[in-house]
Amino acid sequence: MCQVLSWVLVLLCSLSSSLLFCGSDEQNDAPPYVIVLYGAPGSGRATFTVRLWKDFAFPIISLATLLTNHVLDGTVLGSKGQDYCINGGDLPQELLPAILCDRLLHPDCEKGALLEDMPLTASQVLDIKKQLSSRFRFLIVNIDTSDEYLIQRVERRLVCYTCGYVYDDSESNRKQKTYCDICSSPLQRRQGDSPEVIKSRLEAYRNQVSPLLKIYKEKGELLQIPGDRKVEEIYKDIIQTIEHVTGLAASKHPFEEPLLAQE
Ligand SMILES: [Zn+2]
Repeated sequence: MCQVLSWVLVLLCSLSSSLLFCGSDEQNDAPPYVIVLYGAPGSGRATFTVRLWKDFAFPIISLATLLTNHVLDGTVLGSKGQDYCINGGDLPQELLPAILCDRLLHPDCEKGALLEDMPLTASQVLDIKKQLSSRFRFLIVNIDTSDEYLIQRVERRLVCYTCGYVYDDSESNRKQKTYCDICSSPLQRRQGDSPEVIKSRLEAYRNQVSPLLKIYKEKGELLQIPGDRKVEEIYKDIIQTIEHVTGLAASKHPFEEPLLAQE
């Protein structure tokens, strides 16, 4: 398995529709935005990324997947990353910017793209931004949550393994507490939702991502979205922030995602 997968801040989603994009005319010749959404486990990052894909029609790009595909397809870029992926050798410094640039030049990235994963070393991130800064603009959005809030949220989480819907155990307007409102299957706690597991995952995330967020903050590039509140409120704030900075307009479909953010 390619080692680059270890960078991935996991996002598992199914992609199944395309929507109209509304951009302002003056943005047509401007460099497209590369939006990177950061958020701790339980913050809703994965849910929000899929929603942004729907509402802005930005493609979701994974550097890990791109690199793996280049290696498997035997492209020129892939040959440069082969040693890293197969033997754990050094990753050539120019490779990730080149791979990302190659992907961003596809027509579907004309207005922007959502970057699903960024390398977890500050030097790699800075290198990517430096090499691509003349052709693309980076928008770094962080869902700013406290560990206490996330632990409480995840502890309240109930999942229907039949239809995949996720519930908040404290929701008072639910018809029934132990069965799914949609398919009537029994609700369960997820195996990984114990406080010990959550705390461990949060600690690992903070250790990896905090240095990067510090750099973005020092450069004045970090857009902070308060995260200790309902997912619908957070998402509304994310949308408004992106619209304000980019001048683009979201399609704003009703927020029909699960009651509680999954990741
Ligand atoms: Zn169900």
